Amino acid sequence: MRIAVPKETRPGERRVALVPESCKKLVQAGFSVAVEAGAGAAAYFDDEAYRQAGASVEADPAALLGEADFVLKVNPPAIDPASGRDEVGWMRPGTFLLASLMPLRNLEAVEALAQRQITAFSTDAIPRTTRAQAMDTLSSMASIAGYKGVLLAAMELNKYFPMLTTAAGMVFPAKVFVIGAAVAGLQAIATARRLGANVFATDVRPEVKEQIESVGAKYVGIELKESAAAGGGYAKELSEEDKQRQRVLLAEQCAGSDVVITTALVGGVFAPKLLTAEIVRRMPAGAVVVDLAADGGGNCELSRPGETVVEHGVKILAPLNLPASMPTHASLLFSRNLTAFLLAFTSDKRFVLDLNDDIQQGALITHEGRVVHARTRDALEARGKAS
Ligand code: NAD
Repeated sequence: MRIAVPKETRPGERRVALVPESCKKLVQAGFSVAVEAGAGAAAYFDDEAYRQAGASVEADPAALLGEADFVLKVNPPAIDPASGRDEVGWMRPGTFLLASLMPLRNLEAVEALAQRQITAFSTDAIPRTTRAQAMDTLSSMASIAGYKGVLLAAMELNKYFPMLTTAAGMVFPAKVFVIGAAVAGLQAIATARRLGANVFATDVRPEVKEQIESVGAKYVGIELKESAAAGGGYAKELSEEDKQRQRVLLAEQCAGSDVVITTALVGGVFAPKLLTAEIVRRMPAGAVVVDLAADGGGNCELSRPGETVVEHGVKILAPLNLPASMPTHASLLFSRNLTAFLLAFTSDKRFVLDLNDDIQQGALITHEGRVVHARTRDALEARGKAS
């Protein structure tokens, strides 16, 4: 069975779906692997390293994808009439694809995959179960975002993070407030603590309090009138009454913080607007907000995804695709996640489709010409009604 790894062409992307270490494992398991020339270059994996790991290097991406049985990618396939790159059209019907498709944010790519009869799995739809942990790209990438987000804040802040006792006297530690404490938020807390900051954090799922405290932050939160648990560890949107009450808490915490890191997502996809312009206005001048939910639209009303703005003396960063800014480790972890998925379902040197398996079932987005992922189908129907 032939695995193909094209170069990622999305602007700003530097990751590659498969690194030489995983390539070797897949070759040992009986797959043949081909990568597009230069696919790993931006992540510092050169073509020679892939050859040494047993892969072939192919200059022509159309031939690479046309001969593939299973395609591994980071982002949804490129369909770019301007450059002539049509990764969906180049694949043969029946080809398997595994990538972080983010199907709810990329409905057009999903439709194209269904039309081309590609059997596409999305790593971000893999159920968050113990068995699937090693395949979970959402976790490995969110952890990078949480870490890097804090480093960006530390670079921008006009103060030290740690408490310092110097010959010129003592300085107090910076106060960091983290909103949303799942994978990215918990990593942000741990990183800010390692830098010596005084860290506070909040979430709307009550079970998170203990996790916040276990990584060294103080929990702050409101008693919700209505549960915000949406199942599977995800949160849903708060009721109007709880939103109002939470806004009071956020305003109070932000007013006393040097740095605010936001990571809140609803249903794992959309970013609720939690920081209003009024909350930002009451923050101290020189404070920094890092909106790590920018890829989902942002948690701060004033964020401009992909840009840094200064409003009321507060610097608001809304970086997109932070994992791409650490491409070597991001690719290494992403690649290990994809390899864990493939090897879990490999038998007799082939990937075996098993629609009764809960991981494959959860991750399957398109198959035999149809969109089979329920939430994506609902989103397509809703878009159809709206247009
Ligand atoms: P996410 O990115 O979907 O959400 C981030 C956080 O934002 C969540 O904790 C959510 O409760 C919070 N949030 C939403 N609205 C908020 C609001 N108004 N105010 C404050 N916070 C708000 O989360 P994720 O990192 O993808 O993790 C989702 C779930 O999956 C978690 O329960 C996590 O523990 C679980 N998980 C399980 C596994 C596994 O078992 N394999 C692996 C990773 C994560």
